[in-house]
Amino acid sequence: MTQVLNYINGQFQPALSGATLENIEPATGNVYGHLPQSDAQDIEQAYDAAKQAFGAWRQTTLEQRSAILYRIADLIEENLEKLAQAESCDSGKPLSLAKTVDIPRASSNFRFFAHALTQFSSEAHESVGTNSINFTLRHPIGVVGCISPWNLPLYLFTWKIAPALAAGNTVVAKPSELTPVTAFLLAELCQKAGLPAGVLNIVNGTGPSAGQAIVDHPNIKAISFTGGTATGAHIARVAAPMFKKLSLELGGKNPNIIFADCAYDRMLETTLKSSFANQGQICLCGSRIFVERPLYERFKKDFVSRVAQLRVGPPSEAVDLGAVISKDHRQKILDYIALAQKEGGNILTGGKEATVEEHPQGYYLQPTVIEVNDHLCRVNQEEIFGPVVTLMPFDHEEEVIEMANSVTYGLSASLWTSNLDRSMRFGQQLETGILWVNTWLNRDLRTPFGGVKSSGVGREGGFEALRFFTEPKNICISYAPKI
Ligand code: NAD
Repeated sequence: MTQVLNYINGQFQPALSGATLENIEPATGNVYGHLPQSDAQDIEQAYDAAKQAFGAWRQTTLEQRSAILYRIADLIEENLEKLAQAESCDSGKPLSLAKTVDIPRASSNFRFFAHALTQFSSEAHESVGTNSINFTLRHPIGVVGCISPWNLPLYLFTWKIAPALAAGNTVVAKPSELTPVTAFLLAELCQKAGLPAGVLNIVNGTGPSAGQAIVDHPNIKAISFTGGTATGAHIARVAAPMFKKLSLELGGKNPNIIFADCAYDRMLETTLKSSFANQGQICLCGSRIFVERPLYERFKKDFVSRVAQLRVGPPSEAVDLGAVISKDHRQKILDYIALAQKEGGNILTGGKEATVEEHPQGYYLQPTVIEVNDHLCRVNQEEIFGPVVTLMPFDHEEEVIEMANSVTYGLSASLWTSNLDRSMRFGQQLETGILWVNTWLNRDLRTPFGGVKSSGVGREGGFEALRFFTEPKNICISYAPKI
């Protein structure tokens, strides 16, 4: 049994009320631990600790702060095996994915911002002809709130915490109640790395209880949130009247647009990943595949045959897909597959629960490809967030741009073509925060990350994140031109 505790003011403790939640292992369906079900009183305690710690933390020299963040990055790396095991067990993702993507990226997040904070600067504006100069200070905001989802647990948790701390803030953070374990292990590593008590506080519990209390708190002045669009809209409604700074990274329904002139083999390999990595539970997965008609039948045959060979099974083994996050989520995905059939979709492969002999109660699903005939059908418009992609042919650039832009979301898009002019045209016209041409999930942490439309507000990554976690203050000095 894994017992998760809150980490407040450098201490590990249960929820003040004593309430707990069950933690279920998606691969087996078994309860394998408990976590605190925290509420507003735990958040208040975490806030007090963070407020207390802020004065000293904001005054640490950049070198000291950077050294601590580097130490955390190193410790994550040293504990890769243990963290990856925990992540895979908690979320159902293949252990190989946790080892090669999730945990290394968590370490990179700290390493990146340990360095970035030493390179961050602000602007000066000389107001020529007026004998005055302006310069901008960028101060940490104070106590900030970070709330993250279950799909890339430690990866996304650290993607928020590292820049928040780097900028000199203290933090009240909440991981998803479905995947709390690696955040708990991170707390131990932060302690070991010498992060002072109260600088990072990790409080567990459900969204409506612990999460809501962070958003409601009048003195937590910035919220960095990653999760569903409906939750983001709710948070925006609560936070806006308090004039909180908000960064919202929300859902996606990303197009994967394939032209006949693409590098075929590379496209096919990458499309398998962009469709089904992490059981399709990555906000950046390309869940709507549009293929230029001359290539359509060839792609359909090859893709479906490759998808049918993907191995679904226990995440600890050499599998392509592990379990989806929960029973409810699996049912939601199955409901969408049923809806697709009602809407006239044709299931080319998959479409059912996958049977895994070792774990009959685990939450497994077959990777599923659905051919649709209307880009406006609900399965093509709504985020499913599972191992399900749709397939549709197109004839013209204008047509596929219109289809790609027809959703309310706008997080990322992939384009496969060898035509540079076309890449530029799509770059101009696709309504998306990120466009990958002939690649997918190719990340440089300096670049702005985020979506447009219902996919969110604000950008993470690089100096964008450090700007979000700081408040600019302009100082204007007028000077006498002569003695
Ligand atoms: P979710 O919105 O249900 O939960 C996300 C987090 O918010 C959890 O920690 C949850 O406890 C908390 N929460 C829920 N209600 C809350 C409330 N009222 N107040 C404060 N916090 C609350 O999302 P999820 O199911 O955990 O994650 C899946 C979603 O996340 C998908 O829509 C996916 O696209 C999105 N996502 C987006 C990105 C991105 O970068 N844009 C990355 C990963 C996941």
